[in-house]
Amino acid sequence: MSVFESPSFDNHEQVVFCRDAASGLRAIIAIHNTSRGFALGGCRMWDYASEEEAITDVLRLSRGMTYKNALADLPWGGGKSVMIGNSKTEKTPEMMQAMGRFVERLGGKYVIAEDVGTCPADMAEMAKESQFVKGIPGEGGDPSPGTAYGVFCGIQASIQERMGKNSLDGIRVAVQGLGHVGYDVADQLKKAGAKLWVSDMNEEALAKAKAELGAEVVGLDEVYDLDVDVYAPCALGATLNDNTIPRLSAKVVAGAANNQLAEDRHGDMLHEMNILYAPDYVINAGGVIHVYHQGPDFDEKATFDHVGRLGNTLLEIYARSKKDGTATHVAADRLAEERFQAA
Ligand code: NAD
Repeated sequence: MSVFESPSFDNHEQVVFCRDAASGLRAIIAIHNTSRGFALGGCRMWDYASEEEAITDVLRLSRGMTYKNALADLPWGGGKSVMIGNSKTEKTPEMMQAMGRFVERLGGKYVIAEDVGTCPADMAEMAKESQFVKGIPGEGGDPSPGTAYGVFCGIQASIQERMGKNSLDGIRVAVQGLGHVGYDVADQLKKAGAKLWVSDMNEEALAKAKAELGAEVVGLDEVYDLDVDVYAPCALGATLNDNTIPRLSAKVVAGAANNQLAEDRHGDMLHEMNILYAPDYVINAGGVIHVYHQGPDFDEKATFDHVGRLGNTLLEIYARSKKDGTATHVAADRLAEERFQAA
C-alpha cells in the first residue's frame, strides 16, 4: 500500500522503513508532527497480518501522539514505531540494538519508549545504540502510577464540572478493570471517600479490592447497569458503544482505557445524553508525562505536579464543549490542533 494514499495518512512529516537482515528486524517509524518539538511515542511490537496493517497502525498511532502530547502540555510532537513480529517468540537483543541504530540515525527527531510488546529491558538494549531512548530501567520506572494519578485528577475535575462538587466524598464509582492502573485509581478514590463497584476476571484482584477498599464486586457485563455517578473504564477499548451507552446511568465517564469510543459518533451520543465524557487520550496522558520526565534526574514531585494539571486541561475542554455546543472529544481535538498548529 502507498503511504501517501493510505486513509490514515495525515500529512505525516516522515515515515521510515527499517530493515536489518542480520537480526531480522522489520520496523516502521512514523513522525507525524514536530511543530512542538521532537516526536515522542512508544514502540509497539506486534505480529501484524500484513505490512499494510502495520502501516495503518503506525500512521494512526503517531498522529494520536501529536494530539496527546499537545494536550499533556509537553514540548514534544507525535511519533510512533512498530516492529513487525511476535514479541514472545521472535524478539532478540540484537533486534532491539538494530532498532536503536535506526532511531539514532534520525538525530533526535524521534524519541522512542516502550509500548505493547516492548519493555524496559528492550529500551536498555536500544539505549546501547541510541541516546534518544526513554523508559530505561532505573530512570523513573513504571509509568502506570502517573497514569492512575492523572485519571484520579480527571475524575475530580469531571465531578466538579458535572455535579458542582469539589469533593469525591460519597461519589459512587464503577471501576472496570483492576490492573496496574485501575487498582491504583480505585485506591485513590477510596482514600478520597468514594464508594466503589469493581469488575474484573482476575479473582485475586477482586478479592483484594473487596478486602482492602470495601469495594462491591459486580459481574463483567453488570458494570454498565449500575446506579453510579462515574463509570471508569480501565480495562479494554470500545466499551462505549451502541449496546452499552443506553444502559449507562452515570453522569461521568472517565477512565484510563485507550480508544474507549467504539466510533466517534458514540462521543456525540454521550453528549446528547448529558453524560460528561473525559476524552481518553487526555485523561490517560499521565503515563506519557511520566515518560517525558524519565531520565537520570527523575523528579517524582515535578512529574506528579505536571500530571495533576490534566484536570485543568479537562476543565478547559469542558468549557469549550459548552460554549461551542460540541461533544467533548471534538472540543479536545480542536484544542490540540490549536496548540500544535500555533507552535
Ligand atoms: P493491565 O493489563 O495491567 O490491566 C487490565 C485489567 O483489566 C486486568 O486486570 C484484566 O484482567 C482486566 N480486564 C480485561 N478485560 C476485562 C473486562 N472485560 N472487564 C473487566 N476487566 C477486564 O493494564 P493497565 O496497564 O492497567 O492499563 C489499563 C488500560 O489503560 C488499558 O486500556 C491501557 O491501554 C490503558 N493505559 C494504560 C497506561 C499505563 O500507564 N499502564 C497508560 C495509558 C493507557
